[in-house]
Amino acid sequence: MTLHSRPPVVRVDAALLIPGRGPPITNATLVAEGKKITFVGKQSTLPAKYAQLQGRVVPFLLPGLWDCHVHFFGAPSFAPGVVTSTPPALAGARSARDLAATLNAGFTSVRELGGYGSQIAAAVEEGWLVGPSIYSSVSMLSQTAGHGDAREEDMAVLCSKMEQNMPFYICDGEAECQRAVRTMIRRGATVIKVATTGGGSSTDDLQARQFSDAELLVMVQEVQRAGLAVAAHCHGKEGIKAALRAGCRTLEHASFANDECIALMKEKDVLFVPTRTAINFALSNPQAWTPENYRKIVQLAEANLRTYTKAIRAGVRIALGTDIGLSATTLPINHGMNGKEFVWAVEAGLTPLEAIEAGTARGPESLMTNPIAHGDDESDDESDDGEPPLTKAPKSGQLSVGFDADFIAVSDNPLLDIAVLANPEKVTHVWKGGKLYKEPGKPVTILPPVH
Ligand SMILES: [Zn+2]
Repeated sequence: MTLHSRPPVVRVDAALLIPGRGPPITNATLVAEGKKITFVGKQSTLPAKYAQLQGRVVPFLLPGLWDCHVHFFGAPSFAPGVVTSTPPALAGARSARDLAATLNAGFTSVRELGGYGSQIAAAVEEGWLVGPSIYSSVSMLSQTAGHGDAREEDMAVLCSKMEQNMPFYICDGEAECQRAVRTMIRRGATVIKVATTGGGSSTDDLQARQFSDAELLVMVQEVQRAGLAVAAHCHGKEGIKAALRAGCRTLEHASFANDECIALMKEKDVLFVPTRTAINFALSNPQAWTPENYRKIVQLAEANLRTYTKAIRAGVRIALGTDIGLSATTLPINHGMNGKEFVWAVEAGLTPLEAIEAGTARGPESLMTNPIAHGDDESDDESDDGEPPLTKAPKSGQLSVGFDADFIAVSDNPLLDIAVLANPEKVTHVWKGGKLYKEPGKPVTILPPVH
């Protein structure tokens, strides 16, 4: 492309266009110029300048999907020592397949809450690998003896790996916690993840509260100064309440949230990311766990589903995230199965249209630090004094003018059968940044064309 040549223009006509937020449009047309959407509306209202443009015709068009909770660990299991002893180059090599599988499933963006995503994102941006846009926390921040402390490792060894950019990080006390946030940002984090309770895959208690209020507050304030959001891993209610009090933006899992927690989630207007996909696969594969871990998984899985249903009824806003994170050909769950989360969302009580909003328009909102506007209103791009807002959240996840040209076509109506989105074969086309990556007979392949 020469300096003054026009960017490529793409036109897609759809029998039904589901915009991600707001009502679907029948007999619709979408036009993108370069990386941005420039027209969305009824075909009958298409501006004259686009009338001669030849386009593709698809039955159902929707925004590129978002998974708000993944990990590119490139490791075959969470068994003690496996993630921490997987060499980063091996993890990156395995992740190449995982990136392609994610895009092939229609996911054009992911929020990665710990893993090698921030390091491999450059290869995707360069066009060296194909995959979704990655917004990563780099590591999860954990206290000593917390969810992210791989206790099977000697502490000195763990700390040296931590300093060598492996995706885990321990910090204790306000000064270390503040420095940890700054270190993640220095390493490229566009969201910060903290663990405020134990977890199903670690050796600590699900109910154990982690980080003090003072530690959490100093981290949240540091993150807010950088214009980012905090995602809190939590299961037990004391850790959920602590995350909410401190000002975390999203709650991951939040399994044992009681009515008080749910009311607070609503009041604080946080996003709830239930992560049913990984939980349900963990539940149906007891052989993958130690007996102690499996006992915790059974407890949290039941509680998490109850919380999910109650939260939907209470009007808590949901963002979809799967917690898919491992890489092995023998696993029952792998990258590329992300669309399953839509099915669990509808089972928990969302309508298909609400589930699609939770898995598209809500994605960028999970990266925003400030209170999030509701409805269809365009939020101001600039504050009153002309200073642009401080955020790393992209303008994507909706089929609307000015948004990123990330969109997919599917063969069947997801409003009638949400499981369409869980089947990559029914995702017939994938455009990311205005570029076509998948069309019938040509799935996303691991190797991009090199020109
Ligand atoms: Zn996770």
